[in-house]
Amino acid sequence: MSRKKLSKKTRKRRLIVKIIFVLILFVICFSMFLLFSKKDRAFLENLNYDQSGEITYYDIYGIHMNFNGKFELDDNFNNPKLVLANGNKEEVIDWNLEHQDNNYSFETSEYINGGINLEKLENGKYYLLIKAETKKDDATVYEYFPFTNQTEYDDLTYYTLTKNNSNKKIDISWGHYLTYELLSFNIENAKLPDDVYDITIDPGHDGNDSGKIVCSDVSVPDDMGECMSGTSYKESDLNFTVSKALKEELEKLGYKVKLTRDSKTDTVPTYGEMGSATTANTTKSKFNFALHHNSTNIPGGMSSTYGLEVYVAGDSNFDLAKLLVQNVCKYGNTSTSTKDEFKVKDGIYQRFSDDGITPYYYMIREVGGIATHAYVDGNNEEYDANPYYNSNHTAEGYLLELGYIDNVRELQNILDNPKGYARGIASALDDYLN
Ligand SMILES: [Zn+2]
Repeated sequence: MSRKKLSKKTRKRRLIVKIIFVLILFVICFSMFLLFSKKDRAFLENLNYDQSGEITYYDIYGIHMNFNGKFELDDNFNNPKLVLANGNKEEVIDWNLEHQDNNYSFETSEYINGGINLEKLENGKYYLLIKAETKKDDATVYEYFPFTNQTEYDDLTYYTLTKNNSNKKIDISWGHYLTYELLSFNIENAKLPDDVYDITIDPGHDGNDSGKIVCSDVSVPDDMGECMSGTSYKESDLNFTVSKALKEELEKLGYKVKLTRDSKTDTVPTYGEMGSATTANTTKSKFNFALHHNSTNIPGGMSSTYGLEVYVAGDSNFDLAKLLVQNVCKYGNTSTSTKDEFKVKDGIYQRFSDDGITPYYYMIREVGGIATHAYVDGNNEEYDANPYYNSNHTAEGYLLELGYIDNVRELQNILDNPKGYARGIASALDDYLN
């Protein structure tokens, strides 16, 4: 096929049209930019910098961000609110506010997994401000006050969970207007970096540490983990089977998922690079699920205890935990644990160290950074230091004891139905997020 040759004149004309089109586009974009930055500046110019609030704590735990702070407000101001605002749009953020005379203190949630849901913020640039009412010439007007950073922490970058193959990037940064400090949220669509994930799954134990070994024939395994006649099952292998199935279920829902080990025989450090307790934070995952199978200390398959236990960090609401319990019971064809110790609600458990606030399980405590009082297992020299123990941007962690493998009936259900357990966890998360 021969292409009709265009005359020189036509080609030239087309080129000129193209250039003009690009120029017009450029002018439009540039004037939009000027308009927005002018609006932004006009908004910032009109803030009240005579007094500012103080942020004394902030963190991102999972998909939620929390702030604690304090401020003073003169008598002529009333009804303060916490807002994300930019002059065009404004969102009021819930807080628990207390005051004594003119001194106010607040927290955005009593729960570490409550507060600002970062998944729900709309694109744009916003400032975190106090908005208060006052009177001018008998009319009600509003004034906005900025915050200063009274913490040791700096800027944070959050990537939203993958939804329909796309993500948003939220830059939460301490900047300045003239000499005044203020906190901004800049939210825009962005490609998820290769090393950032939505969810991390830690199949408990590893190729070096099998956890409990049980025998299908109720016999007691020997020192080598072999059974007299029945088949032997290692907890670490069962954990891996469900974890891999969970990864597949979550990927079907569109999430990007990281396993802390890729096979039954892989070994994983605890606090080292891409370790069981560090991978979730290295990959900026929003959730970390540590999957285990339980056992009692009764030899053989004699345990009468059975059922699901979902371990949750302190100061948490149970919104996701309850869904995990419901859905794993439904799809795993199982029931909640018969164990009473550490139980706070049907199927939901909280176990603390002696201090009463620090989660006992390091997979909850260390993964959550400052939100869960991580402190590194410093008393054990064998462990590397957890690089995230002092982090204020961490994953929301759950440890699931899916069932008792030294209960013969429960072991059979776990062997028959690992995909059901996985589907239960995935659908719980799906329900929670949608
Ligand atoms: Zn275990």
